Amino acid sequence: MDRQQEFVLRTLEERDIRFVRLWFTDVLGFLKSVAVPPAELEGAFAEGIGFDGSAIEGFARAYESDMVARPDPATFQVLPWETPDGEHYSARMYCDITMPDGSPCWADPRHVLRRTLSKATEAGFTCYVHPEIEFYLLRNLPDDGTEPIPADSGGYFDQASHNTAPHFRRRAIETLEAMGISVEFSHHEAAPGQQEIDLRYADALTMADNVMTFRYVVKEVAIQQGVNASFMPKPFTGQAGSGMHTHVSLFEGDRNAFYDGEDPHELSDIGKAFVAGLLRHAREISAVTNQWVNSYKRLITGGEAPSAVCWGRSNRSALVRVPMYSPGKASSRRVEIRSLDSACNPYLAYALIIAAGLKGIAEGYELPPAAEDDVWSLSDRERRAAGYASLPHNLIEALEVMESSELVAETLGEHVFDFFLRNKRAEWDAYRSHVTPYELRTMMPML
Ligand code: GLU
Ligand code: MG
Ligand code: MG
Repeated sequence: MDRQQEFVLRTLEERDIRFVRLWFTDVLGFLKSVAVPPAELEGAFAEGIGFDGSAIEGFARAYESDMVARPDPATFQVLPWETPDGEHYSARMYCDITMPDGSPCWADPRHVLRRTLSKATEAGFTCYVHPEIEFYLLRNLPDDGTEPIPADSGGYFDQASHNTAPHFRRRAIETLEAMGISVEFSHHEAAPGQQEIDLRYADALTMADNVMTFRYVVKEVAIQQGVNASFMPKPFTGQAGSGMHTHVSLFEGDRNAFYDGEDPHELSDIGKAFVAGLLRHAREISAVTNQWVNSYKRLITGGEAPSAVCWGRSNRSALVRVPMYSPGKASSRRVEIRSLDSACNPYLAYALIIAAGLKGIAEGYELPPAAEDDVWSLSDRERRAAGYASLPHNLIEALEVMESSELVAETLGEHVFDFFLRNKRAEWDAYRSHVTPYELRTMMPML
C-alpha cells in the first residue's frame, strides 16, 4: 500500500467515516457512485470494485460487461455535510475504470483525458485549466414543458441582500473550499436567477474531477436552500444561456509557454499555434463541447455566446479570447475558449480542446488575424467575407462534422466515438420529430 492509500485509511478511522463513495463518470457526463464501507477499502485499493459495466451509459455495448472501479487515493475528500442520521460523514474518491485484466477501459472518460494529457507530457507540457461556470437557480424544475421560475430577480454583479443568491453562493463556496476546490470569484450573472462561480486553475484532470464535484455540490446546496440549480445550456428563450468559458495555459516546467512579452497580444508562437488549432478544429469538436440539442439555442448571436469561429484580444464576441487583465504577468497568460457550456462532459471536452491545440503546435498551424470588430453585429455575408466559419447551427450539423474528424476519432478512441455519435443521433431524431410550441403558436393561426 502506498502513502496516499494509508492516509485515506487513517482518515477514515480518525473521522469515523462509515461510507466511501466511489465516483466515476459516464460518457454523457453523468456522475455515478458506488458506496463501500471502510472495511472494504483496503481490498478496493488492491483489486478494485467489480461492477456491471453494461448498466452504465456508453460503457455497455462495446465491452464485456465486467468492469472494475479502481479508486484514485489522490482524489480522496470528506463530503462536508452530514448523512441523514446527522452523525457520520461520508467521503468520496474518483475511480479509474479498468477491465478485469487491469487494462484501462476505453469507454472511461477519465481515461480518454489521461491519454491526451500523456501526449501533452510527451511534448513537454503541463495543461492548466480554469472554468467560469454559469448556471441558473430556479424555484422549480417543471417537466411539463413550461418555463421554470428564476429564484431571484437579480442582474449582472447585483448584490441584493433580500434574495437567495448571495447566501446560496456563500454556502456553495464554503462547501467547495472544504473539499479542496478553490474558488476564484463568484457573482450574479446577467439574467434573473443566473449565477457564475469561477474556479482557481488546476491541472486538467483535477479540474475535470472538480467540475463534476462542482455540479453535484451546487445542486445539493441549492436543494438544502429550497431551490434548484440547473446547468441546462439555455433554459429561457429570452435570456442568456449558461456557458462554461474555459481558460487554458500550457507550462514547460515552471515557465508559461503561452507568454511572450514582446508580442502585442503577449502570446508566444506556441500560444498562437494552440489557438490556431482550436479554431481549425472548433466545428469538429462542437458536438462534445456543446452536446445537447438545447446547447445550440445558446450558440446564437446575442447573449454573449460565440457563434463564429474567430479569435480576438479581449473581444467577447470571438470564440477564443486572449484576456488582458494583467498585462506583463507571464504566469497568467492564457487563452479563453467561450463555446463550452455547463452541461458538457468536462473530461471529453478538455481532451478535445487540448488535442486540437496540441495539433496546432505539432503541425505549426498559422493563426489568422485577430477579429477587431464586434462579430455579433456582422451579417452572415460579412462574416464569410472576413473568413469566419460559423459554429454548427444545431446538433445534427455538429455530429456530421464530427463524424469525419480524424482528430476527434483518435482522441476519443473508436468506442467512445461510435457510442457518442449513435447516442446523439438518437437524441436528434427524438427532438426533430417533435412539433414544438413555437410552430403551433406561429403557424397554426395562419396555415
Ligand atoms: N452567458 C454567456 C454565455 O453563454 C457568457 C456571459 C459572459 O461573458 O460571462 O456564454
Ligand atoms: Mg459569465
Ligand atoms: Mg469569460
